[in-house]
This record gives sequence, structure tokens and C-alpha cells, in this order.
Amino acid sequence: MAAWCRFTRVKFCLLFIIFFSHSLHAQLDKSSEKFRLKKLDAYSRLAAVTIYNWNNQSDIDNNQINAKIEDLQIQSDDSSEGIIFRHLLATGTANETERPRVPIYVKSPLLESHWNELKSLNTDLYAAARAYYIYARAINDFDGSSQRINVTVPALRRLKREVLETGNKTATAIASIWLAMELTLANPIQAINEIEYALPHLPPRSSALTLENILDSDTAHEWLRIAFTELSVPSRAFTHSMKIIEQSKLNDEFITWAYFTSIDSLFLQSKYEDALLISDRALEFVKIKNSELEIFLTLYQRLRVLIMGFRRTHESEIQSVVNKIDTLDINQIKIKPEELVHLYHSYKAIVQNNEKQLSLAVTKFEDAVRKNLSSNGFKKQYMLRKELELTRIYDAAGNYKKAYEHSKAYNQLLFEKNTEQFKYSSSNFSNSIAKDIELAHYRQKEISALQIEKEGLSTDKEAMKTTIFALIVTILLILTSWLWISKRQSDLIAERDSLTGALTRRAMLNSLKKSLKDNKTSCIALLDVDNFKKINDRYGHTVGDEVLTTLTQIINNRIRKSDKLCRYGGEEFLIYFSDSDQQSAKRVLDELNVSLSRQKHWSHTNEKFSVSFSSGLLDVSEESNLDTIIKACDELLYKAKRSGRARVESYTF
Ligand code: GH3
Ligand code: MG
Ligand code: MG
Repeated sequence: MAAWCRFTRVKFCLLFIIFFSHSLHAQLDKSSEKFRLKKLDAYSRLAAVTIYNWNNQSDIDNNQINAKIEDLQIQSDDSSEGIIFRHLLATGTANETERPRVPIYVKSPLLESHWNELKSLNTDLYAAARAYYIYARAINDFDGSSQRINVTVPALRRLKREVLETGNKTATAIASIWLAMELTLANPIQAINEIEYALPHLPPRSSALTLENILDSDTAHEWLRIAFTELSVPSRAFTHSMKIIEQSKLNDEFITWAYFTSIDSLFLQSKYEDALLISDRALEFVKIKNSELEIFLTLYQRLRVLIMGFRRTHESEIQSVVNKIDTLDINQIKIKPEELVHLYHSYKAIVQNNEKQLSLAVTKFEDAVRKNLSSNGFKKQYMLRKELELTRIYDAAGNYKKAYEHSKAYNQLLFEKNTEQFKYSSSNFSNSIAKDIELAHYRQKEISALQIEKEGLSTDKEAMKTTIFALIVTILLILTSWLWISKRQSDLIAERDSLTGALTRRAMLNSLKKSLKDNKTSCIALLDVDNFKKINDRYGHTVGDEVLTTLTQIINNRIRKSDKLCRYGGEEFLIYFSDSDQQSAKRVLDELNVSLSRQKHWSHTNEKFSVSFSSGLLDVSEESNLDTIIKACDELLYKAKRSGRARVESYTF
């Protein structure tokens, strides 16, 4: 017994332990997933900050990034995300020889299983991280050359297709915008298509930079602006700059840049009046802000609008804009891109007619471009930009010979870039058979997916059929019961006399046939209103009708539920007294006559008069032939009439 007790106690303890460990596990799983997602978010932010700011002399310097890396302990994180993000952070600066690299070493190889885990945890981040990794690796492998797009474009296309299969629109748009970025080097038309495809589902601009939103919808507009600029469609370029201004709810630096670039697009169209209006709006916008960088950008662009379009008419404003810019401490602001400072000094030299200063500023500008060229992933665009700026400067300075030289260089570069793009885009399609096989596989997949969908639809159809069938049955049921009810109602109406509501002769005879068989002790009386002809003649038919309805009411109020009243014809009525002997029936008939005689007021005449009826009463206990009974009643009634009316005449068989 004691042993059994101990055994039960142990069993209980075990049960408790199992139960608690289960719920503990569930809680741990939940909190550990939450913890992982939180960690992923932190890694994503770290990656975005690093990509943007490492070695980049911005407001976030390398020391701050180092501190963040230490803080997150990413070097010792051996989970899938730890391995992935170590690879991402290290790859970006892997080829750096002169400047510091991000202090991370990869430790272990990056495997497909790591990516799959990230994909199931956060598909958006997966798309962004993998796209960036494809890009960063190719930049390293091709040493910054545009040749990389032979690798990046197909890889990003594959990524896009893979993410597409998850059904996640944002993640697809993220993969697509990275693909578009690389396509700008290969085929601007394809790039535009891709950006416009991604645009509706891209994350909006956010002040919290992550790897997922590093290329957001505002970036897409900006790229469309650049793409249309290069395709010499500045009007579309302008539209996309304005979209950023109109759509963005944020009050950030990006809007100032959008104003800046929209004015740039207007320069290309020589729309200086419009540029001046946009510049007014931009000044209004930065006025409420406390950013010296944004004030500089806006004033610099204002200065260019004035110099290019209104040099003669706005001389004093030009001088005052220069003065305003000079009150800003430009070196302290850390203007990015730094070339802008040299461009400003060039324009300032033009305003001041200082040729020496101008050539010094231009040289500094060219040096800055050369210095930054090596780290730029889009060299041709960068060079194009340089030639365009120099053309404008020499144009403004009145040095038309140099302006022409630079515009020629610009056109040459544009031509080379486009030829190169043609080369890349054709090489992309050189392996047509492989491409077609790939497409065929893809189509096969799509067809089988459609098949499944169709089968789903056909089961849907079956379900629909059943529903419709049930609906029809229900409608039919409602219809038949409605018909039955209305027929019953019309039957009931047919069973009742329309004036008095008493049973009709036919209804009475039908129901009596049954009642007479079951109930042997009952009576039947035939009533006839006395001198009814005279009432009709004297007071009219309406009053006569009232007499009939009044009599019916009086009878109905007196007889029992089991009794029956019928209008036998004209002013004749038949009453069936169930379970009733002659004596009690006679008493009722006499009472009815008394009640009727008390009624002296009639609604359709002012004259007072009273009415009586005569009746023949018969006990039906012995006889069940209705015709015989009624005939006998009629004889008794005739007897009552002859005996002076207002009386009951009866006898027993
Ligand atoms: P008696 O006392 O002998 O029965 O005399 P009576 O005047 O009632 O004689 P009779 O039975 O011949 O008259 C019946 C009259 O009832 C004839 C007809 O005009 C009238 N009548 C029959 N049906 C109706 C009706 O629905 N409304 C009215 N106002 N009169 C009716
Ligand atoms: Mg009569
Ligand atoms: Mg009568």
C-alpha cells in the first residue's frame, strides 16, 4: 500500500514536471523567436548604417559603428543570422587596401541553409540582405568594373523569381529594386520597367534606416528621375522629383534633395522661370528647418537658377545669396557630396569675376571627382555628371569654348555608355537556348500551379452547385408552404359566410357528418329571423344586414367552442350543440332571444326596434341522417312561426 502511494506520488510529480516543462518550452520558444526577430532588426539597422557611413566622413563615424558592432556581439553569434550578417558586413570592405575595413571576420562559410532560415524568419530582410550580398560580392570580384552586371543581373533575376514564389509583394519589390539598380548599367529601359514594377510595393521612406528600406519608394522616384534625365526626358524626370515632394510626409533632408533635383531637371529643359518658382518653394521649406546643410543646398541651387536664367535682372539678389551662403560655416557642415562645395566656389568666383579663383575651384572639383571615382559603383554616371557640371560652369563664366569641349565630352561619354549598355544587354541574351529552357521550366511550373488553382476552383464550383441546389430547395419549400397557407386561407374564406363570418352550409354539413358519428348526445337547431322582410322594407337592407351580423355575434358569444354556427341561407341559421341535451340547448336558444330583444339601437337608423327569431330544435342522439334531421327542424320551425314566433319548438325522436 505504502509502495503504491509512493508510486502515485512520483507519478504526480512526473506529470507536474512534464506539464510545466511543456508550457515553459512554449514560452521559451515564443520569447526566443521574439528575441531573434529583435536581434535581426538590430543587425539590419547596423548593416544599413555601415553600408551608408563606413569610411564616409558623415555624421556617423567609424568609431560609432565599431561601438555598435561590439555592443551587438555579432562576432560571437553562431546562429544563421550571425553568420549571414558577418558575411555582409565583411564583404563590403573586403577589398579595401588604403582605408580601414569593417572589423569583422566571417569565421564560417555562408551556406544555403543559413539563407533559408533567414527567409522563413523575415522574407523582406532576406530579399534585401541577399540582394546586397550579390551586389557587394560582385563589386569585389570585378573590382568595381561594370562587367559585374553579367553576374549581378542574372543572380538578382533569380532572387526576384525565388522571392516571387513566397507570394510576398514587398520582398519581391525589394529584390526587384536591387535588380533595377544593376540594370541601370545594362539597359535603362529595362531598369525603368523594373523600378516602375517595384514602386507600388516598396517600403516608404522611414527615418529608421534598415537594410529592407535602404532602397525605398523615394529612392525609386529618384532613380526614375535620373533614368529619364539620361534618356533626355527631363519632363518625366521632373515629375518624379515632384512626386517625392508631394508624397513624402516626412520633413527630412530628402525633400530638400528632391527640390534640388527637380530644379536640376528644369535646367535641362531650360525652364528657368519654373526653376525659380520651385526654388521659392524650396526656400520656404527650409526656412522652418534647422539644418545648415539643407539651407546650403537650397541657396546653392537658388544661386545657379539666378545665374543661369536671371543674371542681368537679379544682380542684387545674386550677391545677397552669395553673402548668405558665406555666413554658413561650409567646412563645418560636412557637405555631401563634397564636390558641391567646389562647385559653389566656382559659381561664387563667376559672380565675383575672379578667374584665378574659378580655375582653382574647378581643379579642386576635378580632384574630388577623381578621388571618389574608385569607390563609385556607377563610374560612367559619375563622369557624365562631372562633364555636365563643367559645361554649365564654363557656360555661366562665358567661356563658351571650354563649355563646348565639356559638352562634347559629355556626349562622347553618353554615347560610350549607351554602346556599352547595348553590349551588355545583348550579351545577357547570347545564350538564348539556355534562357528559353529556363523560361520553359518556369512556365511548366506556372502551368502546374494554375492546374492546382483550377482544381481548387472546380471544387469551389461543386460547393457553389450544392449551395445553389440548397437555395432552390429552400425557395421551393417557402413557395409551397406559402401556397399552402394562402390556399388554407382561401379555403377558410370559402368555409365562411362573407357577411356574418358564420360557417357556410357546405362547411357545416361536412363537419356535422363527422361530429354526429362521434357524439351521440347533441342537438341541432334551425333559426329564422321573424318578419325579416318587413325590417328590410322599413329600414333598408343595410339595417337588415346589421341585424344578421348582430345576431351572429350574440350567438357566437354564447355558444361553446365545440358548438357550431352556420348561416344556412338568407336569415336562417343552423346551430349544432355538441354534448348537449334538448333542455340545455333550449335554454341557450331562449337566452339568445332575450339577448337579441335587448338590442334596440342600430347604427344605420335612428329608429329603435327589437328583433326576435323562431327556431326548431332537435335531439340527434337517435338519428344521424342529416337530411332527415334538418327537414324535421324545418318542420318544427314552421310550427314555431305558426305558434306566434319568437319561440323554440322541439320534440324527441
Ligand atoms: P317570417 O317571420 O315568416 O320568417 O317572415 P319573413 O319576413 O322573415 O319571411 P321570409 O323568410 O320569407 O323573408 C326572408 C327575407 O330575408 C327575404 C329576403 O329579402 C331577406 N333576406 C335574405 N337574405 C338577406 C340578406 O343577406 N340581407 C338582407 N338584408 N335581407 C335578406
Ligand atoms: Mg326565412
Ligand atoms: Mg324569416
